[in-house]
Amino acid sequence: MPWAPEASASRPGAAGGAGSPSGSNRDWLDRGSRVIPGGVSSPVRSFRSVGGSPYVVASGEGAFVVDVEGRRYLDYVQSWGATLLGHAAPPVVDAVCTAARLGTTFGAPTPGEVLLAEEIVRRVDGCEKVRFVSSGTEAAMTAVRLARGVTGRERVVKFAGCYHGHSDGLLAGGGSGVATLGLPGSAGVPSSAVAATVVAPYNVVPELDERVACVIVEPYAANMGLVPPLPGFLDGLRGACDAAGALLVFDEVITGFRLAYGGAVEVCGVHPDLWCFGKVIGGGLPVGAVGGSAALMDVLAPDGPVYQAGTLSGNPLATAAGLAALRAVDAAAYADLGARVGKFATALAEALGRSGHPVQVPVAGPLVGISFAAEPVTDFDGAQAAAATGLYAPLFHAMLERGIALAPSPYEVLFPGFAHTDADFDRTVALASEVAAELAA
Ligand SMILES: *Cc1c(COP(=O)(O)O)cnc(C)c1O
Repeated sequence: MPWAPEASASRPGAAGGAGSPSGSNRDWLDRGSRVIPGGVSSPVRSFRSVGGSPYVVASGEGAFVVDVEGRRYLDYVQSWGATLLGHAAPPVVDAVCTAARLGTTFGAPTPGEVLLAEEIVRRVDGCEKVRFVSSGTEAAMTAVRLARGVTGRERVVKFAGCYHGHSDGLLAGGGSGVATLGLPGSAGVPSSAVAATVVAPYNVVPELDERVACVIVEPYAANMGLVPPLPGFLDGLRGACDAAGALLVFDEVITGFRLAYGGAVEVCGVHPDLWCFGKVIGGGLPVGAVGGSAALMDVLAPDGPVYQAGTLSGNPLATAAGLAALRAVDAAAYADLGARVGKFATALAEALGRSGHPVQVPVAGPLVGISFAAEPVTDFDGAQAAAATGLYAPLFHAMLERGIALAPSPYEVLFPGFAHTDADFDRTVALASEVAAELAA
């Protein structure tokens, strides 16, 4: 049936429509699996690394999601960090509705993208211009192309366990879903595409030479659990890049405007040459951005020779949502959230310790990791060893049964945000304590 405004307005959530709440999780997954590979639009959602079958989300509100069977979960996934204010946050919903009424995409410049770019540039010291794309993957691709274009070099150094999206050249040694599925990279990536990618261990400053165009790093690694930089690592990278004439790229797709009001630079004090943003800056809609000094960014087309483009780039809905999310919280609110989450992480570590297994609950700003390890994890080998204990999956399922949705993989982090209350944290700790006692038995 063709779309008709009266029909769609009078039949919200009609049976079989998008987000229809009828049918079980299993029904929707089976139905999805017939038309979508694995029934999922991104592999980690399949629960393959923890076993079982995923809940299918009908709706979300604040810190909670509700599945199609009507079960409510306190959600620490938060779209893998994209929803800073929680789900369906009123300022974001209002901004999206207002923008949608004015038209959803034009293929022309819009005020919305200017306002969001100004907001980012105002907050991140040294970032003078940004170019919007539609995902974090594209942001990292563009940063690498720009670095190669600027330096005339090919080599890219990345770190094992860091994830920079699913582009050919950056999948090698990736964290997140690549690690979850135990893939060395991916079938379908020609060796020529990764020939210029060098994978180094995280938290060790690699030796660089004049063949290196850029070093790309998650300043606080959050795709192999949470692995903060050791003192001297990021400074060391800055020095090594300067000495070799290579660019330093911070992939802040997770940390940007989640770790702190000004992103990772505000916390670590090290300034990269280029930034990648995504997730939070779209307020829960698809967006990404690459940023840097005006001199570097002007090497992009149309002013410079490095080509880059996108039909939906700078999309009015996404930029409106992102701006609304960013403007809703000030620096003091970030400090308050960080302090609350710090207490939560301490209590969670104590609760999980009741399992009798060594466990680490690292925290950076409001980012929280859970690793079953005796010592703090500092690199991908450590993250893999912690995952290999097999303790995360039973924790995950026992928490899910109690209505707490952690990430369905030991390589991801928890994303408590501005919608999570102290009562939510207390309940999580109480239930984690119960589960830990069960794991010990
Ligand atoms: C999620 C993520 C990406 C990829 O972003 P997409 O929007 O999923 O393409 C890149 N880098 C980091 C650090 C990420 O966490």
